[in-house]
Amino acid sequence: MKKAELLAPAGNRTALAAAIQAGCDAVYLGMKSFNMRGAPTNFTTAQLKTASALCRDHGVKLYVTVNTIIYTRELSKLQRLLDDIAPYADAVICWDPAVIMGCRERGIPIHISTQASIANTQAALYYKQLGAERLVLARECTLQEVAAIRKAANIEIEIFAHGAMCVSESGRCFLSQDTLGLSGNRGLCRQNCRRPYRVICQDGPGDYEVYPNDNHVFSAKDLCTLPFIDKLLNSGIDSLKIEGRNRPPDYVHTVISAYRQAIDAWAAHQLTYELKKELVAKCRTVFNRDFSDGFFLGRPITDFTENENNAATQKRTLVGKIINYYQKSGIARLWLQNGTIADSEDLVIMGPTTGVVNCHVNVFQCEDDPSLNPSRTATFPCPVKLRANDAVYKIIKS
Ligand code: SF4
Repeated sequence: MKKAELLAPAGNRTALAAAIQAGCDAVYLGMKSFNMRGAPTNFTTAQLKTASALCRDHGVKLYVTVNTIIYTRELSKLQRLLDDIAPYADAVICWDPAVIMGCRERGIPIHISTQASIANTQAALYYKQLGAERLVLARECTLQEVAAIRKAANIEIEIFAHGAMCVSESGRCFLSQDTLGLSGNRGLCRQNCRRPYRVICQDGPGDYEVYPNDNHVFSAKDLCTLPFIDKLLNSGIDSLKIEGRNRPPDYVHTVISAYRQAIDAWAAHQLTYELKKELVAKCRTVFNRDFSDGFFLGRPITDFTENENNAATQKRTLVGKIINYYQKSGIARLWLQNGTIADSEDLVIMGPTTGVVNCHVNVFQCEDDPSLNPSRTATFPCPVKLRANDAVYKIIKS
């Protein structure tokens, strides 16, 4: 059976480099407009061109998301965007008929976004006859439903395999719009569901608090399919998508390398319970709200977070940036701008060309450079090439 594609999020150039380094087969990214993750770091047309060249050099596919709600006044802007995207995208992830038609006119392959909430075979066949090559199914489908839709529609199926889950149905949340005027369906969600709430029931002789010990009553745990990834892969799903275009590059690197290892081990008949456990632990080192099976094995009932936001088993803190890398000796020079370093540190270093590099340092050679303020610098050996301005973080185990 063929290996499913591993599809990585790229919210910026460093995350893109990290995803490729970690072994993804494809990446998805958004432009400055019409994508569901509105962020200043999204890609300009010039950056898309560079990203596309990088992806092609590494044999990685590039998909562009154009999946927000679109208004009539924006149609000409949309046409210009599709013209800009056309030479570089291997597919556009969309669902609005205006985008679907625009892609068809330009011959851009169409992947239907999870925003369309496709959860039955008729909807799948409908989008197929519109010209879609792939469907990203609603996250609310069980694995059995996913497999049945794939078989009946005979079309490529992509599913979310890891990352944040909305408490509301895919593309059906108006919480941020109603409270702040910032629509989740325009890529501007402010994540109201992640906050703690007190839920008071007033139906009765007196008010009483529902769930008094757990006030994150709307915040779903994150999806992690590693414990049963063999079931997904055995079902013939074509693409496993990792959520997280707003996550930092080290998150992307860690999660993509874990799923890469799992998929490759499955293909080599070496995916064991122990390996899956190890890979889940690896994913727990970076941002998570604890893990849930999502809807794949049945409807979740109480999979809400118990902690305030991040349950990562390790954190990182910015200590400075690289000012030079001496390639012959493999020595990096670090400008210490924040905090301190001890004799032995685990570092993670990130940059748009470097991607993500993990490095254990036994001894730093500390020095002063009066031309810098603060003047503290340190050199350390690193076998992987670093570059000036790469950000340096030290890892703090929780
Ligand atoms: S508020 Fe929460 S449920 Fe609603 S779109 Fe945002 S993340 Fe999803």
